[in-house]
Amino acid sequence: MLVVNPLYSRLVLKHIFWLFMLLIGMFFTGCESNKHHGNIKSIDEIKTVESRLVILHPIKNLEHVWGIQPFSTRDNKHGIMFHNGLDYFINTSEAVVVSSVDGTLLEARVFTRPEDGASQLNLIIETPSGPLVSYSLEPSAGLASIDKKKLQLEIANEMKSRLRVKSGASLVKGQELGVLIAQDDWAHVHMSVKWPVNRSEVWLCPAEFMAHQLVSGIQTRIQRWKDINYQSLSNIEICN
Ligand SMILES: [Zn+2]
Repeated sequence: MLVVNPLYSRLVLKHIFWLFMLLIGMFFTGCESNKHHGNIKSIDEIKTVESRLVILHPIKNLEHVWGIQPFSTRDNKHGIMFHNGLDYFINTSEAVVVSSVDGTLLEARVFTRPEDGASQLNLIIETPSGPLVSYSLEPSAGLASIDKKKLQLEIANEMKSRLRVKSGASLVKGQELGVLIAQDDWAHVHMSVKWPVNRSEVWLCPAEFMAHQLVSGIQTRIQRWKDINYQSLSNIEICN
């Protein structure tokens, strides 16, 4: 029979107690760091977490793009209008639209905006690690007559029927998705990036996730858009 020294067993109990406290401490520290993980604020933190998100332009041939409206926050330093994505305006009657990311097509639907009755084709792509990339294919922009809106809806439906992919399809970067059909010079693809999914909406500037040469390749198109809309400004950035 094993006789345990009472002093020895007290020591063992004491050690078990402190080991237990240590485990509890580790558990709460873990929760705390997860909380910080889910409460991402700066673009640098997001880029660290989401280093695999690399974005291309949504239009296959940039020569078909005459101008680009940049991303701008509500309190941007130039005072230009809020814009939660990039708009690619085309100079051809139609332009091939490609997937700017690897991901899954969550949704493809014709949408008529209740505010102004404008119709567009919306595509939502989920990237493997969560952020959503959305496209709105808009045949025209600005005020429109009843007839123009009617045609806009027909074009939106035609763009949907010419899609080469269905909802649920896996997409690879650069894959042709369909076409943007122009009704006037302001036909564009609006591309936005939303983080994180299913939390409060945080819009990120898509250019933050593009290779440097892609960003430098669109500078003149950004300035062209600026020259039409904000002649008094000397220069604007892609992410404002
Ligand atoms: Zn836009």
